[in-house]
Amino acid sequence: MSVEEMAALSFDNRFTRELPADPETANFCRQVQEACYSRVRPVSVAKPELVAYAREVAQILDLTPAACETAEFAEVFAGNRQLQGMDPYATCYGGHQFGNWAGQLGDGRAINLGEVVNGRSERWALQLKGAGLTPYSRMADGLAVLRSSVREFLCSEAMFHLGVPTTRALSLVKTGEQVVRDMFYDGNAKPEPGAVVCRVAPSFTRFGSFQIFSSRGEVEVLRQLLDYTLRTDFPHLGPPSKETYLQWYREVVERTAEMIAHWMRVGFVHGVMNTDNMSILGLTIDYGPYGWLEDYDPNWTPNTTDAQGRRYRFGNQPQVAHWNLAQLGQALLPLVEEVEPLQEIINAFSSAYEGYWQAMLTEKLGVEVFDGELAAELHEILPLVETDMSIFYRKLAMVEVGAAGDATDEQLMAPLMDAYYVPEQLTDDYKARLGAWLRWYGAQASADRRERMDAVNPQYVLRNYMAQLAIDKAEEGDYTVVNELLELLRRPYEEQPEREQYAQKRPDWARDRAGCSMLSCSS
Ligand code: AMP
Ligand code: MG
Repeated sequence: MSVEEMAALSFDNRFTRELPADPETANFCRQVQEACYSRVRPVSVAKPELVAYAREVAQILDLTPAACETAEFAEVFAGNRQLQGMDPYATCYGGHQFGNWAGQLGDGRAINLGEVVNGRSERWALQLKGAGLTPYSRMADGLAVLRSSVREFLCSEAMFHLGVPTTRALSLVKTGEQVVRDMFYDGNAKPEPGAVVCRVAPSFTRFGSFQIFSSRGEVEVLRQLLDYTLRTDFPHLGPPSKETYLQWYREVVERTAEMIAHWMRVGFVHGVMNTDNMSILGLTIDYGPYGWLEDYDPNWTPNTTDAQGRRYRFGNQPQVAHWNLAQLGQALLPLVEEVEPLQEIINAFSSAYEGYWQAMLTEKLGVEVFDGELAAELHEILPLVETDMSIFYRKLAMVEVGAAGDATDEQLMAPLMDAYYVPEQLTDDYKARLGAWLRWYGAQASADRRERMDAVNPQYVLRNYMAQLAIDKAEEGDYTVVNELLELLRRPYEEQPEREQYAQKRPDWARDRAGCSMLSCSS
C-alpha cells in the first residue's frame, strides 16, 4: 500500500512547462543564458538510509508514515530513483553575496524534482539538497554533509512550529558515502558522512532569480519569470501589468518585513542573508551557518565567514533585508521603467518592519499597548550582562508584577535568574536598573499576560549546541537525538517537563565549541 502511495503522487510541473529551459542537457558547469533552469538528474548514491522525516510535511503530500518508512522512500529522496511525473532541474539565479554582485550562482547543489499537487489542490515544489553536481555547481561538488543537513532539517521544522514563515523539510537521508569538507577553511579537510534533505515549499524562487536576468539585460526572461510568479504564487494580484508588478513588489516587501520581525522575535540569526538566499514568498530559506541568539548580543553572528564585517549579525537583519529588497527593486526597473514608484515602496520597508516588530513585542511583553520607551530601556538592559534571550522573555511572564510595591528588586527578578550566564555580573546597579524597569513594566502589563506571552516566547528553540548533540549522535549512526529534537520542537511553546533540560541555558562546554557557537559556510 505505502509504495503505491508514493507512486500516486501527482506531479504537475508548471515551472519547467511554462518557463524557458536551457537547451543544453549535458551536465557541466557553465553560464546559462536566456533560461530559467537546466534539466539535470540527481546522482545515485551508495546506500540511502532514512535518518528522519517530518510527518506533517509527509501529510501535506498525502504520504502516510508507512510510506515514509519504506526503503523506496529513502531511495527516492536520496535521488536514486525518480517517480513517474518528476522532471528534475536546477534553476539559474544570481545574487549579491556579502554586499557584492556575484553574477550567476544557481542551484549548485539543489535539484528540484517537480511540483506535487496534493488532494487539497495545493502545489508544493520538492527539492533535494545535496543530490550532486549541476551546471551551477561552479567549483564545488554539489553535495551536502550530514552535519549541515541535520541542521537544515531540524531548523526548517522548528521554525515552522514557531510560526515563522519557512521552507519545510520532508526528509533527511544519509547517502552512505563520504564527502570531504574543510569545516573552517583552515586546511583541515576531512571526510564526513554525506546526506540529502528534501525541502518542500510552494516555490524556491529567490530575489536573485530576478536579478540574474535583469543584470544580463534578458528582459523578456525576466518578464516571463515574473508573470509566471504572479500567475502561480500571487494569483490574487491579477493579470500582469506595471501596476501588478509594483503590487507584487509591495507584497514581497511586506512579507519580508514580517519574516524578519519573526526572526527577531525568536532570536534567529540567518547568517548568510545574501540576495540568493531571500525567498520572494517571504520564507526563511537556506539554513546554513545560522544560529540562535543565546546571550542577548545584537552584534552576534554565528557565521565565522562573516566575523570581520558582521554584516549578518542579529541586530542588522532588518537593515540587510531592506538593502536586499532594494536590490530586488533595482532588478524590476527594466519592467517598471520608473524609479519613483519602486523607491516609494522600498521606503515603506522600515515602517512595515516597525509595525510588525512592535506588534510582536507587545505580545512578547504582554502589555496592553506598545510603549517605545519601555521597549528601548529593555533593549539597553538586556546586553548589559550575559542574558539568555529566550529564557528571559519566557520567565518574564512569571515575574509577580502585582506584588511589585512590596517586593525588593531581587525578589522581583527572582524568576529571571535562570536567564543569567554569569551571576557575578549582577551588580547592585544592574539590579536597581532592572528592578525599576520591572516596576515600570508591571504597571503596563496585562493581568492575564502569561498566556499571551507564552504563545510567542518559545520555551524551546533549536539551541546551537542541541543541533550539535544530534549531529554527534547521527554521525555515529544513532538518530534518536535528531528525532527527539524534532518531537520537542513540534511544540515549542508548551512545557514538556520530561525534556526540561532543553529549556535551560546553553551548557558551559558549548560556549566555544565548533558547531555550537562558530559555524562557517562550509557545508
Ligand atoms: P549558499 O550561500 O550556501 O546559499 O550558496 C551560495 C551558492 O553556492 C549557491 O549557488 C549554492 O548552490 C552554491 N553552493 C554551495 N555549496 C555548494 C556545493 N557543495 N556544491 C555546489 N554548489 C554549492
Ligand atoms: Mg543559497
